Amino acid sequence: MEIKRTDYDVLIIGAGIAGEESALKLADMGFRILLIEKEPSIGGKMILLSKVFPTLDCAACITTPKVSETARHPNITLLTLTEVESIIKESSGLFSVILKKHPRYITEQDCTGCQECETVCPVVVKDQFQFDLVARKAVYIPFNIANPRIALIDIENCMLCGACEQKCPSHAIDFTQQEETIQIQVKSVIIATGFKLFDPIHIEHYGYGKFKNVITSMQMERELAPTRPFNNILRPSDGKVPDKIAYIFCTGSRDHTVGNPICSQVCCMYSTKQAQLLMGALPLADISLYYINIRAFGKGFNEFYMQAKDMGANYVKGKVASVSEKENGNLVLRYEDITSGKVSESEHDLVVLSVGLLANPEITKVFKNVTLETDPLNYIKQPDLLQSPASTSVEGVFVAGTATAPMDIPDTIMSAGAAASETSGYLKQLS
Ligand SMILES: Cc1cc2nc3c(=O)[nH]c(=O)nc-3n(C[C@H](O)[C@H](O)[C@H](O)COP(=O)(O)OP(=O)(O)OC[C@H]3O[C@@H](n4cnc5c(N)ncnc54)[C@H](O)[C@@H]3O)c2cc1C
Ligand code: SF4
Ligand code: SF4
Repeated sequence: MEIKRTDYDVLIIGAGIAGEESALKLADMGFRILLIEKEPSIGGKMILLSKVFPTLDCAACITTPKVSETARHPNITLLTLTEVESIIKESSGLFSVILKKHPRYITEQDCTGCQECETVCPVVVKDQFQFDLVARKAVYIPFNIANPRIALIDIENCMLCGACEQKCPSHAIDFTQQEETIQIQVKSVIIATGFKLFDPIHIEHYGYGKFKNVITSMQMERELAPTRPFNNILRPSDGKVPDKIAYIFCTGSRDHTVGNPICSQVCCMYSTKQAQLLMGALPLADISLYYINIRAFGKGFNEFYMQAKDMGANYVKGKVASVSEKENGNLVLRYEDITSGKVSESEHDLVVLSVGLLANPEITKVFKNVTLETDPLNYIKQPDLLQSPASTSVEGVFVAGTATAPMDIPDTIMSAGAAASETSGYLKQLS
Protein backbone atom coordinates (compact mmCIF):
# COMPACT_ATOMS: atom_id res chain seq x y z
CA MET A 1 0.00 0.00 0.00
CA GLU A 2 1.35 3.42 -0.87
CA ILE A 3 0.19 6.53 0.96
CA LYS A 4 1.08 9.88 -0.56
CA ARG A 5 0.98 12.75 1.90
CA THR A 6 2.29 16.22 1.34
CA ASP A 7 1.05 17.97 4.42
CA TYR A 8 3.83 17.77 6.99
CA ASP A 9 6.02 20.72 7.79
CA VAL A 10 8.74 18.70 9.52
CA LEU A 11 9.92 15.10 9.46
CA ILE A 12 11.63 14.18 12.74
CA ILE A 13 13.71 10.99 12.61
CA GLY A 14 14.11 9.26 15.99
CA ALA A 15 11.67 9.42 18.92
CA GLY A 16 14.01 9.45 21.91
CA ILE A 17 13.84 12.37 24.31
CA ALA A 18 15.45 14.67 21.68
CA GLY A 19 12.95 13.82 18.93
CA GLU A 20 9.98 14.03 21.32
CA GLU A 21 11.06 17.39 22.71
CA SER A 22 11.59 18.95 19.25
CA ALA A 23 8.28 17.48 18.04
CA LEU A 24 6.31 18.82 21.02
CA LYS A 25 7.84 22.30 20.81
CA LEU A 26 7.15 22.61 17.07
CA ALA A 27 3.69 21.04 17.35
CA ASP A 28 2.77 23.55 20.08
CA MET A 29 3.77 26.33 17.66
CA GLY A 30 1.23 24.94 15.18
CA PHE A 31 3.54 23.08 12.78
CA ARG A 32 2.48 19.63 11.51
CA ILE A 33 5.03 17.01 12.45
CA LEU A 34 5.68 13.48 11.24
CA LEU A 35 7.74 11.71 13.91
CA ILE A 36 9.17 8.33 12.98
CA GLU A 37 10.83 5.70 15.17
CA LYS A 38 12.47 2.49 14.03
CA GLU A 39 11.70 0.60 17.25
CA PRO A 40 8.20 -0.63 18.26
CA SER A 41 8.01 1.95 21.11
CA ILE A 42 9.00 5.59 21.39
CA GLY A 43 11.11 6.88 24.31
CA GLY A 44 14.65 6.01 23.19
CA LYS A 45 17.20 5.05 25.86
CA MET A 46 15.70 7.32 28.51
CA ILE A 47 12.50 5.31 28.93
CA LEU A 48 14.66 2.31 29.90
CA LEU A 49 16.69 4.11 32.59
CA SER A 50 16.28 3.75 36.37
CA LYS A 51 16.61 7.23 37.86
CA VAL A 52 18.47 10.26 36.57
CA PHE A 53 21.50 12.08 37.91
CA PRO A 54 21.96 14.40 39.72
CA THR A 55 18.40 14.66 41.11
CA LEU A 56 17.61 10.92 41.36
CA ASP A 57 14.19 11.57 39.86
CA CYS A 58 12.55 8.46 38.43
CA ALA A 59 13.34 8.43 34.67
CA ALA A 60 10.06 6.73 33.75
CA CYS A 61 8.05 9.29 35.79
CA ILE A 62 9.63 12.17 33.87
CA THR A 63 9.55 10.61 30.46
CA THR A 64 6.18 8.81 30.31
CA PRO A 65 4.06 12.01 30.46
CA LYS A 66 6.18 13.41 27.62
CA VAL A 67 5.85 10.16 25.68
CA SER A 68 2.03 10.22 26.10
CA GLU A 69 1.83 13.89 25.11
CA THR A 70 3.87 13.13 21.99
CA ALA A 71 1.64 10.20 21.05
CA ARG A 72 -1.57 12.21 21.56
CA HIS A 73 -0.68 15.66 20.23
CA PRO A 74 -3.07 16.62 17.39
CA ASN A 75 -0.21 18.12 15.34
CA ILE A 76 2.06 15.04 15.65
CA THR A 77 1.65 11.94 13.51
CA LEU A 78 3.67 9.10 14.95
CA LEU A 79 4.90 6.06 13.04
CA THR A 80 6.77 3.30 14.88
CA LEU A 81 8.72 0.45 13.25
CA THR A 82 9.44 2.95 10.50
CA GLU A 83 12.72 3.88 8.81
CA VAL A 84 13.74 6.27 6.05
CA GLU A 85 14.76 4.74 2.77
CA SER A 86 15.70 7.90 0.92
CA ILE A 87 15.60 11.69 1.11
CA ILE A 88 15.98 13.83 -1.99
CA LYS A 89 16.20 17.60 -1.82
CA GLU A 90 14.19 19.00 -4.71
CA SER A 91 15.04 22.22 -6.57
CA SER A 92 12.04 23.84 -4.80
CA GLY A 93 13.83 23.28 -1.46
CA LEU A 94 11.25 20.69 -0.34
CA PHE A 95 12.40 17.22 0.71
CA SER A 96 10.94 14.18 -1.00
CA VAL A 97 11.10 11.25 1.42
CA ILE A 98 10.44 7.52 1.07
CA LEU A 99 9.68 5.66 4.31
CA LYS A 100 9.44 1.93 5.02
CA LYS A 101 6.99 0.87 7.74
CA HIS A 102 7.67 -2.67 8.89
CA PRO A 103 4.69 -4.91 9.72
CA ARG A 104 3.76 -5.60 13.34
CA TYR A 105 1.56 -8.55 12.29
CA ILE A 106 -0.94 -7.09 14.75
CA THR A 107 -3.84 -4.80 13.87
CA GLU A 108 -2.88 -1.79 15.97
CA GLN A 109 -6.40 -0.51 16.66
CA ASP A 110 -7.62 -3.97 17.76
CA CYS A 111 -4.81 -4.91 20.20
CA THR A 112 -5.72 -4.15 23.81
CA GLY A 113 -2.28 -4.99 25.21
CA CYS A 114 -3.71 -7.85 27.31
CA GLN A 115 -0.64 -10.08 26.68
CA GLU A 116 -2.77 -13.25 26.40
CA CYS A 117 -0.85 -14.10 23.22
CA GLU A 118 2.45 -14.17 25.16
CA THR A 119 1.14 -16.87 27.48
CA VAL A 120 0.75 -19.42 24.67
CA CYS A 121 3.68 -18.59 22.41
CA PRO A 122 6.18 -21.48 22.61
CA VAL A 123 9.18 -19.44 21.39
CA VAL A 124 11.63 -18.03 23.95
CA VAL A 125 14.39 -15.65 22.82
CA LYS A 126 16.61 -13.05 24.50
CA ASP A 127 14.77 -9.84 25.40
CA GLN A 128 16.64 -6.95 23.76
CA PHE A 129 14.73 -4.36 25.83
CA GLN A 130 16.06 -5.99 29.04
CA PHE A 131 19.52 -6.13 27.40
CA ASP A 132 19.45 -9.96 27.32
CA LEU A 133 19.06 -10.34 31.11
CA VAL A 134 15.82 -12.30 30.61
CA ALA A 135 13.83 -13.82 27.76
CA ARG A 136 10.67 -12.83 25.88
CA LYS A 137 8.26 -14.56 23.53
CA ALA A 138 8.13 -14.22 19.71
CA VAL A 139 4.90 -12.27 20.17
CA TYR A 140 5.51 -9.61 22.78
CA ILE A 141 4.97 -6.13 24.18
CA PRO A 142 8.45 -4.54 24.34
CA PHE A 143 8.19 -3.43 27.99
CA ASN A 144 5.49 -2.39 30.49
CA ILE A 145 5.55 1.33 29.75
CA ALA A 146 6.00 0.95 25.97
CA ASN A 147 4.11 3.47 23.87
CA PRO A 148 2.17 2.36 21.89
CA ARG A 149 1.46 -0.51 24.30
CA ILE A 150 0.68 -2.92 21.50
CA ALA A 151 2.10 -6.37 20.77
CA LEU A 152 4.26 -7.22 17.77
CA ILE A 153 5.50 -10.46 16.29
CA ASP A 154 9.20 -11.05 15.81
CA ILE A 155 8.66 -12.87 12.54
CA GLU A 156 12.28 -14.07 12.28
CA ASN A 157 11.83 -16.21 15.39
CA CYS A 158 8.12 -17.02 14.98
CA MET A 159 7.29 -20.70 14.25
CA LEU A 160 3.96 -19.70 12.66
CA CYS A 161 2.22 -22.19 14.95
CA GLY A 162 -0.88 -20.02 15.16
CA ALA A 163 -1.31 -20.40 18.95
CA CYS A 164 -1.38 -16.62 19.49
CA GLU A 165 -3.95 -16.19 16.74
CA GLN A 166 -6.26 -18.70 18.44
CA LYS A 167 -5.75 -17.17 21.89
CA CYS A 168 -6.11 -13.47 21.05
CA PRO A 169 -9.55 -12.34 22.31
CA SER A 170 -9.52 -9.33 19.96
CA HIS A 171 -8.58 -11.21 16.78
CA ALA A 172 -5.74 -8.73 16.38
CA ILE A 173 -3.12 -11.09 14.92
CA ASP A 174 -2.69 -10.56 11.18
CA PHE A 175 0.01 -12.56 9.40
CA THR A 176 -0.96 -11.03 6.05
CA GLN A 177 0.51 -7.61 6.90
CA GLN A 178 3.21 -6.45 4.48
CA GLU A 179 5.91 -3.80 4.60
CA GLU A 180 4.43 -0.44 3.59
CA THR A 181 6.14 2.16 1.44
CA ILE A 182 5.14 5.70 2.30
CA GLN A 183 6.08 8.70 0.23
CA ILE A 184 5.93 12.18 1.71
CA GLN A 185 7.11 15.69 1.05
CA VAL A 186 8.27 17.90 3.92
CA LYS A 187 9.69 21.39 4.27
CA SER A 188 12.39 20.45 6.76
CA VAL A 189 13.94 17.51 8.60
CA ILE A 190 15.28 17.07 12.15
CA ILE A 191 17.78 14.28 12.78
CA ALA A 192 17.33 12.93 16.34
CA THR A 193 18.75 9.46 15.84
CA GLY A 194 20.71 9.42 19.11
CA PHE A 195 23.71 7.31 20.00
CA LYS A 196 24.85 3.69 20.01
CA LEU A 197 26.30 1.97 23.05
CA PHE A 198 29.88 0.77 22.93
CA ASP A 199 29.97 -3.06 22.74
CA PRO A 200 32.51 -4.17 25.39
CA ILE A 201 33.04 -7.47 23.59
CA HIS A 202 35.78 -5.48 21.80
CA ILE A 203 37.81 -5.18 25.02
CA GLU A 204 38.65 -8.84 25.49
CA HIS A 205 40.62 -8.41 28.72
CA TYR A 206 37.45 -7.28 30.57
CA GLY A 207 35.82 -10.64 29.84
CA TYR A 208 32.37 -9.39 28.72
CA GLY A 209 30.54 -12.17 26.87
CA LYS A 210 32.92 -14.71 28.46
CA PHE A 211 32.35 -14.19 32.20
CA LYS A 212 28.63 -14.14 33.10
CA ASN A 213 29.10 -11.78 36.05
CA VAL A 214 30.60 -9.02 33.91
CA ILE A 215 27.65 -6.89 32.80
CA THR A 216 27.20 -3.46 31.22
CA SER A 217 25.92 -0.30 32.87
CA MET A 218 22.80 -0.48 30.68
CA GLN A 219 22.08 -3.95 32.08
CA MET A 220 22.48 -2.50 35.58
CA GLU A 221 20.09 0.35 34.62
CA ARG A 222 17.50 -2.32 33.84
CA GLU A 223 18.14 -4.16 37.13
CA LEU A 224 17.56 -0.88 38.99
CA ALA A 225 14.59 0.38 36.94
CA PRO A 226 10.96 0.26 38.14
CA THR A 227 10.20 -1.96 35.10
CA ARG A 228 13.12 -4.23 36.05
CA PRO A 229 13.32 -7.89 35.09
CA PHE A 230 13.84 -9.21 38.65
CA ASN A 231 12.57 -7.88 41.93
CA ASN A 232 16.10 -7.56 43.29
CA ILE A 233 19.67 -6.97 42.14
CA LEU A 234 20.98 -10.36 41.01
CA ARG A 235 24.16 -11.48 39.35
CA PRO A 236 23.58 -13.50 36.17
CA SER A 237 25.64 -16.67 36.81
CA ASP A 238 23.75 -18.00 39.85
CA GLY A 239 21.13 -15.42 40.85
CA LYS A 240 23.09 -14.46 43.99
CA VAL A 241 22.53 -10.98 45.44
CA PRO A 242 25.97 -9.41 45.00
CA ASP A 243 27.77 -7.88 47.96
CA LYS A 244 31.00 -6.63 46.38
CA ILE A 245 30.38 -4.75 43.13
CA ALA A 246 33.02 -3.05 40.95
CA TYR A 247 32.56 -0.43 38.22
CA ILE A 248 35.14 0.02 35.45
CA PHE A 249 34.82 3.58 34.13
CA CYS A 250 35.65 4.69 30.58
CA THR A 251 34.95 1.28 29.01
CA GLY A 252 35.21 2.22 25.35
CA SER A 253 35.67 5.94 26.00
CA ARG A 254 38.89 8.00 26.04
CA ASP A 255 40.51 4.98 24.42
CA HIS A 256 42.36 5.25 21.10
CA THR A 257 42.76 1.48 20.92
CA VAL A 258 39.00 1.06 20.33
CA GLY A 259 38.72 4.11 18.05
CA ASN A 260 36.86 6.32 20.54
CA PRO A 261 39.29 8.86 22.00
CA ILE A 262 36.64 11.19 23.50
CA CYS A 263 34.90 11.36 26.86
CA SER A 264 31.32 10.03 26.79
CA GLN A 265 30.22 12.81 29.19
CA VAL A 266 27.68 10.72 31.13
CA CYS A 267 29.48 7.58 32.39
CA CYS A 268 31.12 9.07 35.52
CA MET A 269 27.78 10.44 36.62
CA TYR A 270 25.52 7.51 35.69
CA SER A 271 27.95 5.15 37.49
CA THR A 272 27.85 7.45 40.53
CA LYS A 273 24.04 7.42 40.31
CA GLN A 274 23.95 3.62 40.12
CA ALA A 275 26.35 3.37 43.08
CA GLN A 276 23.98 5.50 45.17
CA LEU A 277 20.96 3.43 44.10
CA LEU A 278 22.81 0.19 44.86
CA MET A 279 23.81 1.44 48.31
CA GLY A 280 20.10 2.13 48.91
CA ALA A 281 18.96 -1.26 47.55
CA LEU A 282 21.78 -3.31 49.13
CA PRO A 283 22.88 -1.42 52.26
CA LEU A 284 25.54 -4.00 53.16
CA ALA A 285 27.17 -4.15 49.72
CA ASP A 286 30.63 -2.66 49.00
CA ILE A 287 30.75 -0.59 45.83
CA SER A 288 34.16 0.22 44.30
CA LEU A 289 34.48 2.49 41.28
CA TYR A 290 37.72 2.33 39.26
CA TYR A 291 38.23 5.57 37.35
CA ILE A 292 40.83 7.51 35.33
CA ASN A 293 39.54 11.03 36.21
CA ILE A 294 36.16 12.01 37.59
CA ARG A 295 34.39 14.38 35.22
CA ALA A 296 31.69 15.97 37.36
CA PHE A 297 31.39 19.18 35.34
CA GLY A 298 27.66 19.97 35.33
CA LYS A 299 25.32 21.76 37.70
CA GLY A 300 25.10 19.80 40.95
CA PHE A 301 27.39 17.05 39.63
CA ASN A 302 30.34 17.51 42.00
CA GLU A 303 27.99 17.62 44.98
CA PHE A 304 26.39 14.41 43.69
CA TYR A 305 29.83 12.76 43.49
CA MET A 306 30.72 13.93 47.02
CA GLN A 307 27.38 12.59 48.24
CA ALA A 308 28.21 9.12 46.83
CA LYS A 309 31.57 9.22 48.62
CA ASP A 310 29.90 10.28 51.87
CA MET A 311 27.48 7.37 51.51
CA GLY A 312 30.47 5.01 51.40
CA ALA A 313 31.26 4.47 47.70
CA ASN A 314 34.93 3.56 47.32
CA TYR A 315 36.45 5.52 44.41
CA VAL A 316 39.78 4.02 43.29
CA LYS A 317 41.96 6.02 40.90
CA GLY A 318 43.40 3.32 38.70
CA LYS A 319 43.29 1.82 35.22
CA VAL A 320 42.02 -1.76 35.21
CA ALA A 321 44.36 -3.95 33.15
CA SER A 322 42.43 -7.22 33.25
CA VAL A 323 39.52 -9.16 34.73
CA SER A 324 39.80 -12.89 35.45
CA GLU A 325 37.20 -15.34 36.72
CA LYS A 326 37.39 -17.67 39.72
CA GLU A 327 35.60 -21.01 39.95
CA ASN A 328 32.80 -19.56 42.09
CA GLY A 329 32.04 -16.93 39.43
CA ASN A 330 33.77 -14.13 41.34
CA LEU A 331 36.02 -11.81 39.38
CA VAL A 332 39.53 -10.59 40.10
CA LEU A 333 40.49 -7.13 38.88
CA ARG A 334 44.17 -6.39 38.27
CA TYR A 335 44.74 -2.66 38.24
CA GLU A 336 47.30 0.07 38.62
CA ASP A 337 46.53 1.93 41.86
CA ILE A 338 47.64 5.45 40.94
CA THR A 339 47.52 6.72 44.54
CA SER A 340 49.92 4.12 45.92
CA GLY A 341 51.82 3.64 42.65
CA LYS A 342 51.42 -0.15 42.91
CA VAL A 343 49.81 -2.87 40.83
CA SER A 344 47.02 -4.37 42.94
CA GLU A 345 44.33 -7.02 42.75
CA SER A 346 40.82 -7.07 44.21
CA GLU A 347 37.99 -9.60 44.17
CA HIS A 348 34.35 -8.74 43.39
CA ASP A 349 31.24 -10.81 42.80
CA LEU A 350 29.85 -8.56 40.06
CA VAL A 351 31.61 -6.21 37.62
CA VAL A 352 29.76 -3.43 35.80
CA LEU A 353 31.38 -1.92 32.70
CA SER A 354 30.59 1.78 32.37
CA VAL A 355 30.22 1.65 28.60
CA GLY A 356 30.66 4.73 26.45
CA LEU A 357 28.50 6.40 23.81
CA LEU A 358 29.22 6.12 20.09
CA ALA A 359 27.90 7.93 17.02
CA ASN A 360 25.00 6.48 15.05
CA PRO A 361 25.73 7.86 11.54
CA GLU A 362 23.70 5.42 9.36
CA ILE A 363 21.09 8.09 8.63
CA THR A 364 23.57 10.03 6.48
CA LYS A 365 23.27 7.28 3.81
CA VAL A 366 19.61 8.05 3.10
CA PHE A 367 20.42 11.51 1.67
CA LYS A 368 20.72 10.82 -2.06
CA ASN A 369 21.55 14.12 -3.77
CA VAL A 370 22.99 16.18 -0.90
CA THR A 371 25.64 15.26 1.69
CA LEU A 372 24.80 15.31 5.37
CA GLU A 373 28.33 15.75 6.69
CA THR A 374 29.70 14.12 9.83
CA ASP A 375 32.57 15.17 12.09
CA PRO A 376 35.73 13.04 12.48
CA LEU A 377 34.03 10.85 15.11
CA ASN A 378 30.97 10.28 12.87
CA TYR A 379 28.53 12.49 14.78
CA ILE A 380 26.39 14.81 12.63
CA LYS A 381 28.52 17.85 11.85
CA GLN A 382 27.42 21.22 13.22
CA PRO A 383 29.14 23.60 10.76
CA ASP A 384 28.23 26.69 12.81
CA LEU A 385 28.34 25.31 16.35
CA LEU A 386 28.57 28.67 18.10
CA GLN A 387 25.86 30.62 16.30
CA SER A 388 23.52 27.97 14.97
CA PRO A 389 24.13 24.72 16.87
CA ALA A 390 21.23 22.83 15.30
CA SER A 391 22.14 23.56 11.65
CA THR A 392 23.78 20.88 9.52
CA SER A 393 25.60 20.91 6.19
CA VAL A 394 22.19 20.70 4.41
CA GLU A 395 19.98 23.79 4.51
CA GLY A 396 16.61 22.84 6.01
CA VAL A 397 18.02 19.80 7.88
CA PHE A 398 18.57 20.28 11.62
CA VAL A 399 19.98 18.05 14.34
CA ALA A 400 19.06 17.46 18.00
CA GLY A 401 20.48 15.63 21.00
CA THR A 402 23.14 12.93 21.04
CA ALA A 403 23.11 12.68 17.24
CA THR A 404 25.55 15.63 17.52
CA ALA A 405 27.78 14.40 20.41
CA PRO A 406 27.56 12.55 23.72
CA MET A 407 25.44 14.48 26.22
CA ASP A 408 23.14 14.01 29.19
CA ILE A 409 19.36 14.47 29.28
CA PRO A 410 19.29 18.18 30.31
CA ASP A 411 21.69 19.06 27.46
CA THR A 412 19.70 16.87 25.07
CA ILE A 413 16.53 18.77 25.94
CA MET A 414 18.29 22.10 25.41
CA SER A 415 19.68 20.89 22.08
CA ALA A 416 16.20 19.73 21.02
CA GLY A 417 14.81 23.14 21.99
CA ALA A 418 17.46 24.81 19.84
CA ALA A 419 16.58 22.51 16.92
CA ALA A 420 12.89 23.37 17.27
CA SER A 421 13.60 27.08 17.41
CA GLU A 422 15.98 27.05 14.41
CA THR A 423 13.52 24.91 12.43
CA SER A 424 10.62 27.27 13.16
CA GLY A 425 12.75 30.24 12.06
CA TYR A 426 13.58 28.41 8.82
CA LEU A 427 9.93 27.50 8.17
CA LYS A 428 8.73 31.05 8.82
CA GLN A 429 11.29 32.47 6.41
CA LEU A 430 10.01 30.01 3.71
CA SER A 431 6.41 31.22 3.97
C1 LIG B 1 23.70 3.53 31.03
C2 LIG B 1 23.25 4.95 30.79
C3 LIG B 1 22.71 5.69 31.83
C4 LIG B 1 22.35 7.03 31.64
N1 LIG B 1 21.86 7.74 32.71
C5 LIG B 1 21.59 9.06 32.55
C6 LIG B 1 21.12 9.85 33.65
O1 LIG B 1 20.95 9.35 34.77
N2 LIG B 1 20.91 11.19 33.46
C7 LIG B 1 21.12 11.80 32.25
O2 LIG B 1 20.92 13.01 32.14
N3 LIG B 1 21.52 11.06 31.16
C8 LIG B 1 21.76 9.72 31.28
N4 LIG B 1 22.17 8.98 30.20
C9 LIG B 1 22.25 9.65 28.88
C10 LIG B 1 20.87 9.62 28.15
O3 LIG B 1 20.53 8.27 27.89
C11 LIG B 1 20.94 10.43 26.87
O4 LIG B 1 21.28 11.76 27.18
C12 LIG B 1 19.60 10.46 26.10
O5 LIG B 1 19.07 9.15 25.98
C13 LIG B 1 19.82 11.04 24.72
O6 LIG B 1 18.60 11.08 24.03
P1 LIG B 1 18.53 11.11 22.44
O7 LIG B 1 17.09 11.28 22.09
O8 LIG B 1 19.52 12.06 21.90
O9 LIG B 1 19.03 9.64 21.95
P2 LIG B 1 18.40 8.14 22.13
O10 LIG B 1 17.88 7.92 23.49
O11 LIG B 1 19.48 7.27 21.58
O12 LIG B 1 17.15 8.16 21.11
C14 LIG B 1 17.32 8.08 19.71
C15 LIG B 1 16.08 7.43 19.11
O13 LIG B 1 16.18 7.42 17.69
C16 LIG B 1 15.81 6.14 17.17
N5 LIG B 1 16.50 5.96 15.89
C17 LIG B 1 17.83 5.81 15.68
N6 LIG B 1 18.08 5.70 14.35
C18 LIG B 1 16.87 5.79 13.72
C19 LIG B 1 16.48 5.75 12.35
N7 LIG B 1 17.37 5.59 11.37
N8 LIG B 1 15.17 5.85 12.06
C20 LIG B 1 14.24 6.00 13.04
N9 LIG B 1 14.55 6.04 14.37
C21 LIG B 1 15.85 5.95 14.69
C22 LIG B 1 16.29 5.18 18.26
O14 LIG B 1 15.64 3.92 18.16
C23 LIG B 1 15.93 5.96 19.54
O15 LIG B 1 14.59 5.72 19.93
C24 LIG B 1 22.53 7.64 30.37
C25 LIG B 1 23.06 6.88 29.31
C26 LIG B 1 23.42 5.56 29.51
C27 LIG B 1 24.03 4.78 28.37
S1 SF4 C 1 -2.33 -9.33 20.17
FE1 SF4 C 1 -4.26 -9.96 21.17
S2 SF4 C 1 -3.64 -11.28 22.86
FE2 SF4 C 1 -1.82 -10.14 22.20
S3 SF4 C 1 -1.77 -8.32 23.52
FE3 SF4 C 1 -2.88 -7.75 21.67
S4 SF4 C 1 -5.06 -8.10 22.13
FE4 SF4 C 1 -3.88 -9.21 23.71
S1 SF4 D 1 2.51 -17.94 15.71
FE1 SF4 D 1 4.56 -17.22 16.27
S2 SF4 D 1 4.19 -15.55 17.71
FE2 SF4 D 1 2.26 -16.71 17.57
S3 SF4 D 1 2.38 -18.20 19.24
FE3 SF4 D 1 3.21 -19.23 17.44
S4 SF4 D 1 5.44 -18.85 17.52
FE4 SF4 D 1 4.48 -17.40 18.94
